[in-house]
Amino acid sequence: ETTDVVKLFTQVFNDFKMIHPDFTFNLDNDIEGNPIVQIYRNHLEQVLIILLDNAVKYSVDRKEIHLSASSTSQAVEFAVQDFGEGISEESAKQVFNRFYRVDKARSRDKGGNGLGLSIAQRLIEEYGGTISLESSVGHGSIFRIQLPIMKHVKKDQ
Ligand code: ATP
Repeated sequence: ETTDVVKLFTQVFNDFKMIHPDFTFNLDNDIEGNPIVQIYRNHLEQVLIILLDNAVKYSVDRKEIHLSASSTSQAVEFAVQDFGEGISEESAKQVFNRFYRVDKARSRDKGGNGLGLSIAQRLIEEYGGTISLESSVGHGSIFRIQLPIMKHVKKDQ
């Protein structure tokens, strides 16, 4: 199964804009043409939803989320950046583990079981991709997904 990832990314972006009108969403797409990525559409959609849900959940004060899409000849990269509470270096090592939650007491009222990111990582790695995190407490987080490109269809074809 292959997916037009830019189209999917834009759709998820539009859905979140509609569902969370209190947030400012930006989309920066630097991808030219249509890179074809071998991933089941629903799986990529689920990963994007997990990252965006988290960005919304953990941004209490500054409600702003930046999405970006870029590509090299080998891979596409999607980034989800928030300006929320951020994650310490110590916790960042563990957020992709099943059932891990940074602050159990505080996170409890936000729902969730600490499964989202472990599912996201498992799915992305299943397709030969990577998922990574860059974060700073009090400043926010950036989650990046990279997926290998199968082929490239030119825009005017
Ligand atoms: P769910 O099972 O519903 O996904 P969850 O959000 O707790 O619940 P994960 O998505 O796996 O589970 O996230 C694990 C933990 O990582 C969270 O509990 C939270 O502490 C932290 N975290 C994840 N994303 C962010 C973010 N964007 N900003 C700050 N902390 C985050």
